[in-house]
Amino acid sequence: MMRRLEGKTALVTGAARGIGAAIASAFVENGAFVYLTDIDDVAGRSTAAVLGGQARYLHLDVREESDWQSAMAQVLDERQGLHVLVNNAGITGFEQGNYVHDPEHVALEAWRAVQRTNVEGVLLGCKHAIQTLRKTRSTGSIINISSRSGLVGIPGAAAYAASKAAVRNHTKTVALYCAEQGLPIRCNSIHPAAILTPMWDPILGDGPEREERMREFVQDCPLRRFGKPEEVAALAVMLASDEAAYMNGAELNIDGGILAGAAAAPASSGQ
Ligand code: NDP
Repeated sequence: MMRRLEGKTALVTGAARGIGAAIASAFVENGAFVYLTDIDDVAGRSTAAVLGGQARYLHLDVREESDWQSAMAQVLDERQGLHVLVNNAGITGFEQGNYVHDPEHVALEAWRAVQRTNVEGVLLGCKHAIQTLRKTRSTGSIINISSRSGLVGIPGAAAYAASKAAVRNHTKTVALYCAEQGLPIRCNSIHPAAILTPMWDPILGDGPEREERMREFVQDCPLRRFGKPEEVAALAVMLASDEAAYMNGAELNIDGGILAGAAAAPASSGQ
């Protein structure tokens, strides 16, 4: 197999499980040295351990600037540079069982919690990656995981949708800023939809109704199925590699074709 990331050092946030874990694994398979980072240290360590000597776990809460500073210092110390950052960590806001996220009723604190992880986390990641890459004068690729929800409105997930729209736009700002500064850093966003990971567990449940709910969720998907984390990882490998050297400020949808159509009618209000 062609190893497309040979010699590169990457850092992936939220890599203990789900899409982040799949990206870390695909990066290692392609020859990169990968720092898997997360707030779930137990899961993060065990995910990294499976990947062997080309992977290392680091605790990194994307909301904390001091965590970013120490992670970058460790990467510089151990690897003398960074080439790829994947800002993957993200939350829906539904994790604690609060599903009231419509624009009329969402609580300010719930809104802010989502922005803190999804928007401020990405801001801090880009900021510290740019500073690190500037120091080492390395060629870099920053990949921000946005969402289909960053491109369309989601009535029941106002905080999440706004946060992912901010990620989409910040990606373009970073791409332009780096170009303006003469830094060889590309920045692109990936927009997944309906990728089957633990993020869906609070929504799908684990009872007998899970299969039925899964069917309902993919009814509007032309491919009529959930996507796999490995399918998103394949796209991240391409963006991280030098094959994507001319891709900058781009947004790539990976959604089984959901965004190809115009099935935009909101759910019936019952009136
Ligand atoms: P998961 O919930 O399965 O995994 C997310 C990981 O991020 C978890 O390990 C979680 O830890 C960690 N995390 C949460 N908060 C922080 C934080 N502050 N700092 C560091 N790590 C943190 O999510 P997915 O793999 O499904 O999603 C990954 C990304 O893809 C997210 O940005 C998501 O919004 C995006 N996405 C996913 C889609 C999908 O259908 N799955 C669709 C569109 C976009 P813990 O478990 O301890 O909270």
